[in-house]
Order: sequence, then C-alpha cells, then structure tokens
Amino acid sequence: NSRVVIIGAGIVGCSLADELTARGWRDVTVLEQGPLAAPGGSTSHAPGLVFRTSPSRALTQYARYTVEKFSSLRHAGQACFLPVGGLEVATTEARRLDLHRKAGLAASWGVEGELVDPARCAELFPMLDPDTVLGGFHTPGDGLARATAACLAQIERASRRGARFLDRHTVTGVEREGGRVTGVVTDRGTFPADHVVSAAGFWGPVVGAMAGVDVPLLPLAHQYAKTAPLSGLEGVGADGVEAVRPILRHQDHDLYYREHLDPTGNGPGRIGIGTYAHRPLPVDPYTILPYDQAPKMPSSLPFTADDFAPSWTETGRLLPTLADSQVEEGFNGVFSFTPDGMPLLGESSAVRGFWLAEAVWVTHSAGAARAVAELMTDGRTTVDSHECDPHRFEKAQRSPAYVRERGERSFVEVYDVIHPLQPPGTGRPLRTSPFYPRQQELGAHFLESGGWERPHWYEANAPLVEELGLRLPERDSWSARHWSPIAAAEARLTREKVALYDMTPLRRLEVTGPGSLAFLQRMTSNNLKKRPGSVTYTLLLDENGGIRSDLTAARLAPDRWQLGANSPADLEWLVRHAPDDVQIRDITSGTCCIGVWGPLARELVQPLTPADFSHEAFGYFKARETYVGHIPVTALRVSYVGELGWELYTEADVGLRLWDTLWEAGQRLGVIAAGRSAFNSLRLEKGYRAWAADMTTEHTPEEAGVGFAVRSAKGDFVGRDALAARGAPARKLVCLTLDDPAAVVMGSEPVHVDGVVAGYVTSASYGYSVGRGVAYAWVPAAAAEPGTPVAVEYFGEKVAATVAAEPLFDPEMARIRR
Ligand code: FAD
Repeated sequence: NSRVVIIGAGIVGCSLADELTARGWRDVTVLEQGPLAAPGGSTSHAPGLVFRTSPSRALTQYARYTVEKFSSLRHAGQACFLPVGGLEVATTEARRLDLHRKAGLAASWGVEGELVDPARCAELFPMLDPDTVLGGFHTPGDGLARATAACLAQIERASRRGARFLDRHTVTGVEREGGRVTGVVTDRGTFPADHVVSAAGFWGPVVGAMAGVDVPLLPLAHQYAKTAPLSGLEGVGADGVEAVRPILRHQDHDLYYREHLDPTGNGPGRIGIGTYAHRPLPVDPYTILPYDQAPKMPSSLPFTADDFAPSWTETGRLLPTLADSQVEEGFNGVFSFTPDGMPLLGESSAVRGFWLAEAVWVTHSAGAARAVAELMTDGRTTVDSHECDPHRFEKAQRSPAYVRERGERSFVEVYDVIHPLQPPGTGRPLRTSPFYPRQQELGAHFLESGGWERPHWYEANAPLVEELGLRLPERDSWSARHWSPIAAAEARLTREKVALYDMTPLRRLEVTGPGSLAFLQRMTSNNLKKRPGSVTYTLLLDENGGIRSDLTAARLAPDRWQLGANSPADLEWLVRHAPDDVQIRDITSGTCCIGVWGPLARELVQPLTPADFSHEAFGYFKARETYVGHIPVTALRVSYVGELGWELYTEADVGLRLWDTLWEAGQRLGVIAAGRSAFNSLRLEKGYRAWAADMTTEHTPEEAGVGFAVRSAKGDFVGRDALAARGAPARKLVCLTLDDPAAVVMGSEPVHVDGVVAGYVTSASYGYSVGRGVAYAWVPAAAAEPGTPVAVEYFGEKVAATVAAEPLFDPEMARIRR
C-alpha cells in the first residue's frame, strides 16, 4: 500500500486525491498551507470559465472530462458545473475566419458548436451590441465550473474513501534517498511518502526546488474585475442562480466575461471581466506570503487600475450598457504559464516518486488529474498526453531566463490567432545545427521545433520555381503562411537530382553494453536480432500495445546501437527500464546529421568515401561507419522522402566541414539544400508516419498501418500480449487525396463520412509529385477502403476527398532500392 502525499489542495490536488482513491489508492494525504475551504491559491478566486475547444486534442479531452465530471459532482445540493454555454465573438475578419477553423477543431475533438451571426450573438448575450461583431461561435456545452465547490465535493468523496486532507500544513522540504522521495517535511511534522505530487500551482518552482527538480513555469498576474450590480441580467440571483447567459470571449481584445451574483446573493447580478490585454506582470513565487501572513489571499494582488483602463473602454464598446456602470472591485490574480502554454504532468526523471501536476487551468483540471492518476496507477494514460510531459523541455529550455521570456510570451499570446507553424516571437535562435551559417547564407526560412531552428525552404532556390516552370494552385491566406512555392521546387529536385536535408534535430540515442540486444528486443516490437550493420524500423509500445514512439535502430557493433528516436520521453522510458549492463545516452546535441537524398545521391557520395556505396555492397536499411572526405561518418541507408540516399551522421564540431564537402562535390550534379516543407510533402507521398502527429499511445500498430514493425514470433516484448488480445481495429489511419487539385488542408480538420463527422486529419501537405493535396486521417475502419468518398472540413467548407491506396508514390520502392 504505497503512501502518497499531494502538496496543495487547489482544484488539481483535490481532483487528484479523488482520482487516486477511485483507483484504489488508500494512503493518500493532501497537505495544504491555507485553510481548506478556500486555501488561497489560484483556484480560490478562479471565475471558472470552461471553454473546451483548443488546438490541442489532449487539452480538449481533459476539458470534456472536467465538464462531464463536475456536472455529476454536487456540493451543498448544487451541481459543480453550470452549463450556460460559451460564446466567442469576432470583431476582425481574421478572428471571424479563425472561428470557422475553431468550429472545425471542435468537431474534430467531439465538442458540439455552431457558427452564429451577429443577431444570434446578441440574442444569446443581450448586452452585446451586434453592430460591433462580425459573428460568433456558440458552444452550448461549455459553461462555468464552480471550482471551490468542486474542490469541496471531491474532498468529501476522497475522504470517504480514506484520504486525509490536512490544512494549515506548510511544506518546507522533500526528503530523498537513493534518488527517490521518502517523505515530506512540514512546519507540523514529517510525513513519510513513496510518492509525492506537487500540485502547488504557481508555487510549483518553490516546491520543485525542495526536491531538486526544475519546474519550468512562470507565475503571472492576470486582472479580473466585477462591475457594480446591473439591471438587465434577468434570472441571475433568482434562487441563488449564479449565471444564466453564456460565458463570453472577446479575444480580439483579450477579454472574457461572465455573470455573477451580487455579494449579498439576492440583489441584481453583475458582470465579471477578465483581461489578458495588460503588460505581463510576472511574480516571484518566493515573495508571495502564505495565507496566515497575506493581507488578503496570497494569490490575489492589489488591482492596478491603469492596466485595466483600456479593457474597460473596450468593454464599453462591446457591451454598451456597461458604460454607465463602473468597476466595483478588482484584483490581480496569479497563476502559472509555461514556455509553451501546456501543463506539466508526470514523474520527474531526476527524482523517482516525485510527480508534477502543475500549470493546469480549472478547465482542464479533472482531465489532467485523471492523466496523472492513470500514470501513477498504470504507467499510461487513456488520452495521449505527450504534449504535457514535463521532460519535453530540453536543458537549454529550462533556464530561468528562457522560462520567463517564453512564459511572458504565452501570456501575451494566450488569445491570439496562432498559425500551427508559427514560431515563437522571442528567445530565438536557441538551438542551431552546425550548418546554420550556410543555411543563413542560402536564405533559409527558419521555423522552430523543440528549440531547434529548422529551415523550411531556402530563398536561394527561388529561381528554380521559374526554371522548372512550376505552376502551383493559388493558396488561401492561411495555408499560404509559412509556405512558399520554393518548397515545390525543392521537392521536385529531390525527386530528380539530389538534395541535402538537415536532419540534426532528429533525436539520437546511443545504447551500449552486453545486455543491449536483449534489452532492445524486450522494449521494442520488431526483431532486432540481425547482424551488425543492420538497421530496423521498430516501435516502442506501452503495456497496452499503444505506440509510445517509433525508432530507427542501427546495430553498429554487437553491443552498440544508434537509435533515431522522438521525444525526450523515449530516453526517459528506456533509461527507466534499462538493466545494469546497458548504458543509454542522448547524443543529439553533440552530433549532427545530413540526409542526402535523390537519384544522384550515390554519384554525389561515392567519390568522397573509401567505402563501397553500391546497392550490392551497401543495401537498403544497412549502416556503415566510414569517412566522407576528411569526416568520420555513420551512414544509414534509409530515406524518409522515398528516394535513394543516406543519412550521414557525424560529431557536431566537424559538421560544417561535412556540409561543405558535400556541397562543393555536389555542384556538378546541381545539388540543392532543401527544407522541412518539401520534406513533409515527400514523406506523406510515401506514407511515412510521424509519431505524435499521426500516431500516439492511443493507437495500435495495426490501426496506424505500421503492423509490419511488429514481430510477435520473436519472443516476449512490452505490449505483445495486449496486442494479441485485441480484436479487429475499429478505426484506421488512412491516406486521403483531395479531389480538387487546387485544394489544401493543414491538419486537425474534421473528416466527414456519409455527411457526419467521423474522424480527423493528422498531417497534411500538398503532394507536389502527385499534384494533389494529401492528408492522413483517422477514420472508422468501415470507411478505410480505398475509393471511399469523404469530405474534409476546412474553414467551414467541405473539401471533397477520397481514401487512397498507399503509398501514393513509388509503391514498388523501385527508387529507393537501386
Ligand atoms: P492552486 O489553486 O494555486 O492550488 C495550489 C495549492 O497549493 C494552494 O492552495 C497553495 O496554498 C498550496 N501550496 C503551495 N505551496 C505549498 C506548500 N509549500 N505547502 C502546502 N501547500 C502549498 N482557469 C480556468 O480554467 N478558467 C478561468 O476562467 C480562469 N480564470 C482565472 C482568473 C484568474 C484571475 C486567475 C488568477 C486564474 C484563472 N484561471 C482560470 C486559472 C486557474 O485558476 C488555475 O490555473 C487553477 O486554479 C490552478 O489550480 P491548482 O490546483 O494547480 O493551483
């Protein structure tokens, strides 16, 4: 019976105690520095607006669960969720269009909603001047979480199942031994523990420091104010009803609104106004006084009226009747922002048994708590949660300066229209490959991923568009962002000549030791028992048979492997399971990689190397350690773009020289540098899945179309039994081509089958070789037959598409195997 201590009784700590005790955990103690009913963290004054739809599927699923759960929870006879609905309005054309995109996201993730005209907006929220808005998005199932009531209801329930909630206990230390937590020290004694969860809200970094764990979040103040009591809010106050009309968002001015009872509970209602329009107001969590010393609530700082003034003016424009009213009370409330705006959920790799459940909104609280409880109980989550993994930030992304800069940015951008490819506006460049200076010289258009600067295309290739006579369909303004016709030229030359791709950001792990083969056989799905010099595509599955990651495993010597992996979680997972005779190292930062791909790749590389790069001597999915010019390389004959070629790996210090060697030698062949935009098109034409985008732990290999990487006959491995017990897949990842050759979609759009939403797009691009938009999508298995007509909803338009036999390009693999 493991002992769990949860630090913090805000909405996250209370929800987690409830989720854990529901799963049979009995020894659960929640320690809280404040008094239980309203301990003084962010939850104590959260207005509780729940807009569920987000670009993140995980966050949307968390929010759906919060609504479902809080609707069934009751405190003092009342439900903990008020389903008043949600209304987001647009006052700019960009926002109006974005609401169409949002309606698509809602449909993809299972949230009901409809786009409405200005008159309907005013009907739903009568104070609103319809002349100020261009339209809205109405989600009837959104509404208000009664966060304090939800805490109390869950405290009651978890207590009945044996949990202890001890308030006025301030945690001052976390005890550790041998890399594990052993207890929690408070001002009122020490509590032994096998698991400690920090649900300390914006005090997370303070509690993290007690355990020697970085918690990359920034506390920021955010303004919330209430008007004087108003006439015209019929229904509010009657029988204690808190709110009747939908919660309202006016994101063009970073504002949101809800109805409130007046302080007596039976006068006329009033309006609460939240704003993100003010300057970022970072707060040092070490300076926030605990409850017994704070003048008010610790997380409630004095209202700075000047910061609020523009929001009040704008409110008067949108809701003219408020112009006669005034702000009666307001405060600057503190809560957490992370560098990418996502929560931090999971166990620390630095200290075993120390868990983070931080940077979570009330909106996502029940789902986030469920995810942490599932991780603690089963080691996996029902909703794929890789976006919330606390290890997603690399070392270089955890400095206080970075966390502050990006945290402030998250605040500023919280309601902005963000393009899925949009790079962060601050703190760049952070990570660059050794080829960066050459990429700059070639006019690379850089976007960012995992902190890396990644060229998407090179302006130096612009003349090729004319020279190749490329005629490309016009793009709409959204899909034209962070895109250039140059990508089409780069894709064409990869298919016709040869191109250099910077593959440095691809994560690389080195696995060594006498137990390495047995270990990798147990951890992954494909058969790796092959001669040194072999490369195998294999999968990391979880115990349930879900895809944790996919790997390219090169056996370089009997006991030495190089793995091409995905997220930092892969390292974490492997290290956690590795026996003593296996060592695992992340070598990404100290090494680099160039993909040399195209029909002329052999002509380019062969004269530079002493090794035989002929097809006979160096076959497909083989590896060699050799030299290119002066540079020692590990060459892997693999290709994500479907053309002949190699990935050439070397140490970072000689990387630039490798680039220059290939570049100079390639001039006679017309070599170009090519970027991610072309790469993504080429990979989709070949049907190569990208983990995270196309498949996650929620999917099995068979569903995702990577069943070929599972060799059940090889012996036992993680996930094997679970896969064997599964029936036929109910859904499949399929390739769609868009019927109109001019159409493009971007990803995450809903897919309609027989007129109803039945799935969603994972990755999409234009297929320059096939002359059509290509999209991968999850659809019901019944709709997975090639030839099935479907429609992809793009900004409210139904784009006709057809399930295609895959891969679209070179299914015989003739171009790669020669
Ligand atoms: P908290 O509620 O802060 O709980 C953490 C608890 O840990 C605290 O009670 C604290 O006392 C305790 N603690 C910390 N350190 C220690 C220690 N050393 N020892 C013992 N106990 C400790 N979210 C929405 O979804 N919708 C909204 O409309 C919304 N509006 C907001 C408006 C404002 C003005 C603010 C400030 C926030 C708003 N939020 C909203 C965000 C939301 O309130 C928070 O994200 C959420 O409440 C965080 O919950 P939590 O349990 O993680 O943290």
